[in-house]
Amino acid sequence: MKKKTKMLLISYLYPNRCACCGEYINYDNDDYICETCEETFEPNIRRRTLDCGVKCAAYTEYGDAVRGAILSLKFEHYLPAAELLAKKMSFLYNYLYPDGLENAVFVPVPISKRRRRKRGCNQSEKIAKELSRLTGVPVAKNAIVKIKDNPAQSLAADVNARRKNVKDVYRIADAAAIRGKHAIVVDDVVTTGSTLNEVCRVLLPYAGSVECLTAASAELKY
Ligand SMILES: [Zn+2]
Repeated sequence: MKKKTKMLLISYLYPNRCACCGEYINYDNDDYICETCEETFEPNIRRRTLDCGVKCAAYTEYGDAVRGAILSLKFEHYLPAAELLAKKMSFLYNYLYPDGLENAVFVPVPISKRRRRKRGCNQSEKIAKELSRLTGVPVAKNAIVKIKDNPAQSLAADVNARRKNVKDVYRIADAAAIRGKHAIVVDDVVTTGSTLNEVCRVLLPYAGSVECLTAASAELKY
């Protein structure tokens, strides 16, 4: 069989899906993103400072492509979406730290035990794991835990309700994992920053310094 025919056959039998829109793509497309989504997934780095003073950087604005990848990871557990988001975030990491970072650890935003059981995975943890593979920065998986199973932030009415909803839901669980280190909190999307702010507030007394990296930055829309 000719190589081209063989490739076409493999591509037909084992197509990959775009992590953003679900479109079938070539089997050897290791980036798991179709051309259309790739075009709208360009870096557009957004920065902000959280209420606690911690800096937060996002790879891009919350558009269709990044939203699709976040949702397919969160609700379908489509792991190539974690690879794709981490790849984009590694671009952000390399942009911020072209010479790398010493003494840094990634801290994924934890979810409650109940939510984990229900959902099956923590998307921030999956992204942090992939990001760790790409950057060499270790993950402090259990540095903090979520001790309250609060309602989803998306159900909160406004900024104040969001702030209240996450108040005191996290606590430090493994201080040694972050003590004196540069803790980089990893999450999929930052909206009002209430969740990240609360996570940072818990980390700050123990870590040497804290910052946040997310794939996307969203505006709160009602
Ligand atoms: Zn696509």
